[in-house]
Amino acid sequence: MKKVLSLILAAALILCFAACSQQPAVEKPDNATVIKMGTNAAFPPYEFKEGEAFKGIDVDIATEIAKELGAELEVVDMEFDSIITSVQKGEVDFGMAGMTVTDERKLEVNFTSSYATGVQVVIVPEGSDIKSLDDLEGKKIGTQLGTTGDIYSKDDYGEENVVSYSKGADAIIALKGGDVDAVIIDNEPAKAFVAQNEGLEILETEYAIEDYAIAVKKENTDLLDKINAALEKLTADGTIDRIIANYISAE
Ligand code: GLN
Repeated sequence: MKKVLSLILAAALILCFAACSQQPAVEKPDNATVIKMGTNAAFPPYEFKEGEAFKGIDVDIATEIAKELGAELEVVDMEFDSIITSVQKGEVDFGMAGMTVTDERKLEVNFTSSYATGVQVVIVPEGSDIKSLDDLEGKKIGTQLGTTGDIYSKDDYGEENVVSYSKGADAIIALKGGDVDAVIIDNEPAKAFVAQNEGLEILETEYAIEDYAIAVKKENTDLLDKINAALEKLTADGTIDRIIANYISAE
């Protein structure tokens, strides 16, 4: 009887051990901190989708930043025009979308140090009579809603002459269909769109030269400092140059 009792006790102990040692595994399906990046994944080579996967310069740099922060990156895809609001509401931790630093945006969010330069350029159909920025007067211009190209061209050429699309690619379709005469957009996506679509060219003239940076909620200065420190390290060790060179061939 004694033997049986001790056997039962031993079995109970073993069961308890098994149960107890299993507990942590049940408790932590994934206890890695997740950091959320808000972007518009229709802006190659900075962010785009290949199947279900997010790719691009910003995605790769953000992945490295997340590693530096000991976190895992989650990409949240949205309209470009919603990114700043989403950062302000804390729905995402930061916005990274080839986003230009502007004084107006600085009133809404904080920007990290800049990690890349962008240029606003003009795409026209080959053989167009638009050869310079002056020739855009009175023409229909396609842009991507809420971008600097959209904001500046409305100021310079009149709101009635600008058609804003939610995606750069939609502005390109409109250009090919003759709905607009030109598209103003950042140079690297412009190159990608022109490479994918026959019969388009980029004017030599540069409309605006800008700095790209990461947007962080005003109150979240701790994250701003951490991202800046990560950017500094990734710049110093050549990671950022290497990532950019992976997507953009040096001219
Ligand atoms: N650089 C432009 C801006 O910040 C466009 C960015 C984008 O379309 N993703 O407004």
